Amino acid sequence: IVQLEKVNKYFGKLHVMQDIDLEITPGEVVVIIGASGSGKSTFIRCVNGLEEFQSGRIIVDGNELTPYGKGGKSLQTIRTEVGMVFQQFNLFPHLSVRANVTLAPTRVRGLDDAQASKIADRLLERVGISDQADKYPGQLSGGQQQRVALARALAMEPRLMLFDEPTSALDPEMIGEVLDAMRELASEGMTMMIVTHEMGFAREVADRVIFVHAGRIVEQGSPSQVFDHPQHERTQAFLSRVL
Ligand code: ATP
Ligand code: MG
Repeated sequence: IVQLEKVNKYFGKLHVMQDIDLEITPGEVVVIIGASGSGKSTFIRCVNGLEEFQSGRIIVDGNELTPYGKGGKSLQTIRTEVGMVFQQFNLFPHLSVRANVTLAPTRVRGLDDAQASKIADRLLERVGISDQADKYPGQLSGGQQQRVALARALAMEPRLMLFDEPTSALDPEMIGEVLDAMRELASEGMTMMIVTHEMGFAREVADRVIFVHAGRIVEQGSPSQVFDHPQHERTQAFLSRVL
């Protein structure tokens, strides 16, 4: 469902993605790990066209993004098919929880208010916060806000979900509830690319773990291959710091 071929990206002179090749199959859960500044966010942002790249190909569900942000129709299609959850929740503070979730389905998918509300209530139920629908984001805990962000992304019925450190801004006691919602999504067969520092979670949900260093995929494999038997010294050094 996702294909990257020899993708290269620079920020000025900084070569942040170096000949990245990657293929993700439907239903696969891929966790990307690596040190700060290694290029994880850039990687994931390229997949839904939030960053342009300079050479190579990125194809998402049959839609090709071309270098220098020239995606045209593909870019629009990809944005509607790919959901993203960030470290910062980016909810609309002036809209109720329900309205945050119904906004895109009404505006982009053209559903009427009643249809969209029904979907919103179902999704809020699914992430365990149906009782919060009429509140505003500012009245919720971080963990609850992040689950609203997840429900909002799911309201577009994405074919792929991207997560960039979705629990990094949360207090420890709220991390679990967000990871639980993600775990459930994974078990339902959603294709997911996740950047996280939660190694226990990664081990549990990932079909594949990818270690990036300085813009390259240095090593990848099953969680037990990467966590228990890392082959590359960079991976070993990184894991010895975080595990
Ligand atoms: P972290 O774990 O801290 O989130 P990361 O692996 O997500 O790090 P990126 O945010 O992808 O790393 O950044 C990779 C490199 O690109 C870093 O050296 C960063 O300083 C640089 N970089 C990121 N965004 C920009 C930008 N908009 N302009 C210039 N350089 C950037
Ligand atoms: Mg990052």
